[in-house]
Amino acid sequence: MSRIVLLATGGTISSRESATGGSRASDSAAQLISALKEHALADLLTEIEIETQDVTVENSFNFTFADLGRIEGAVRELLRRSDVDGVVVTHGTDTMEETLALLALTHDDDRPVVFTGAQRSPDHPDSDGPRNLRDAILVAANPASRCHGVLLVFGEEIHAALPLRKAHTSSMQPFQPPRGGALGRILEGTPQYFFGPRRMPSLTETAEVLQEQRVDMILSYPGADGALMRSAVEAGASGVIVLGGGAGNPGNALVEAIGEATRSGVVVGLSTRTFGGSVAAIYSGGGAVDALQAGAVALGDLPGTQARVLLALILSAYPQDQARDRLQRWVHSAN
Ligand code: ASP
Repeated sequence: MSRIVLLATGGTISSRESATGGSRASDSAAQLISALKEHALADLLTEIEIETQDVTVENSFNFTFADLGRIEGAVRELLRRSDVDGVVVTHGTDTMEETLALLALTHDDDRPVVFTGAQRSPDHPDSDGPRNLRDAILVAANPASRCHGVLLVFGEEIHAALPLRKAHTSSMQPFQPPRGGALGRILEGTPQYFFGPRRMPSLTETAEVLQEQRVDMILSYPGADGALMRSAVEAGASGVIVLGGGAGNPGNALVEAIGEATRSGVVVGLSTRTFGGSVAAIYSGGGAVDALQAGAVALGDLPGTQARVLLALILSAYPQDQARDRLQRWVHSAN
């Protein structure tokens, strides 16, 4: 019999219509499990012992780095126990990619950590929560999932935590990696992996603890000037992720502000506002070539949201003058 711990944090999977209107996170881990046990889907769970724990009951659009750190700390604590075979984390989908990134970058254990959630809350007549939760538990308990690192189970698919983005507001499978496809599928409750384990480099030896860091994100668009970048620096940002157009082209005005920021010691990562593909040094005259010359670090195809967590972790462990080099090295080893 394997033992899986469900760590609940809130999200749509736990949300119900509130008295004041609108849906809000409300169900605890124990409530999620007792609802699942009453469901016909629970048949396949009889051989699994499920323990429950709550980190918070919140919708993920309200999370701060402190919340992400608490979730990571709770997983770390659980994995100190040798009687735990895997951990399932229920989480809101809106910022799931950030917490997935944090766990993937700090988790170094063969046992699976599996995130899941829902697009439709438990009071919806056709909620996807129970199926996703059941599948996540089955994936976490299956020995085939060992060594795959941190996973997301959603809409009958299994995805690696990095790189990954929420790509749809309402689809039953809202997550998509910016390159390739799913890592596996769940068929009749059994995970089927299409690829062997291929973890992204973790930062476990160096940057284990995410501290409160100000790392802002700035979008490029026609007419974007350097005002937001300068405000970020003024507000105390130690890092900024710039989402350039196409292959990471911020435009002349933003490139100038990037130069000012990097000269003042701020670490700037260059990502793209497009969904897929890598940052590439193709254009000058305000393009990625100039942004890199101004000191920005090209982030490959890591989504800006996930790169922000990576940069914050690095800044938590290294002084700003070393952080740029560490970020560059991580991207190099991941691509
Ligand atoms: N739409 C979100 C969810 O799926 C809300 C949140 O992120 O908490 O859970």
